[in-house]
Amino acid sequence: MTIKYDSNGLVPAIIQDATTKNVLMLGYMNAESYQKTLETKKVTFFSRSKQRLWTKGEESGNFLNLVDIKNDCDNDSLLIQVNPVGPTCHKGTDTCWEEENTSNYGFFSTLEDVIAERVANKDTKKSYVASLFSKGINKVAQKVGEEAVETVIEAMDNNDELFLYESADLMFHYLMLLQAKGFTLKDIEKELMGRQK
Ligand code: AMP
Ligand code: ZN
Ligand code: ZN
Ligand code: ZN
Repeated sequence: MTIKYDSNGLVPAIIQDATTKNVLMLGYMNAESYQKTLETKKVTFFSRSKQRLWTKGEESGNFLNLVDIKNDCDNDSLLIQVNPVGPTCHKGTDTCWEEENTSNYGFFSTLEDVIAERVANKDTKKSYVASLFSKGINKVAQKVGEEAVETVIEAMDNNDELFLYESADLMFHYLMLLQAKGFTLKDIEKELMGRQK
């Protein structure tokens, strides 16, 4: 891999969690620390303050286990995907920006938030979500069953447009059911990840 080091022989390395995709920290590497990272599979920087190679976690045990390294478009910065052993920031937080390193599911997370807000507001006249919730959890569960059946029918019908439409219905109602049961997508992720061999 061609890497353009700066005049000090360093290249910035953005450290990203391979699973959650959150940015954990930023460090600098020289050619030697880059090589050591490849060999040991533990991210090793060149510490500008210590002026020596620094394997993240060498004191704390909070190593960054290497998953993948990507060069950027003009070879002057690295994106390093890792599995972190513990909190990455030496101040004890998951990331150096005081964030929790939890999964986020993009628009699906937004939808989870919207559903929670509608349920809390209980405006059953204006909100479909609020009105379905007000009828009780069994009604929500029943809707999931209906949408699942509709999805199955369209899958067997070979109609992609209707299949996607009903799949979206199913997903939306499933998110409502999760919420009604007091769960989120994160709980499902945890369950599925626990089954990984
Ligand atoms: P560690 O590499 O986790 O054993 O931490 C050793 C030392 O490296 C800490 O005491 C800090 O001085 C420094 N350090 C650790 N983690 C970070 C970080 N995420 N950003 C900047 N400095 C760090
Ligand atoms: Zn660049
Ligand atoms: Zn930090
Ligand atoms: Zn439907």
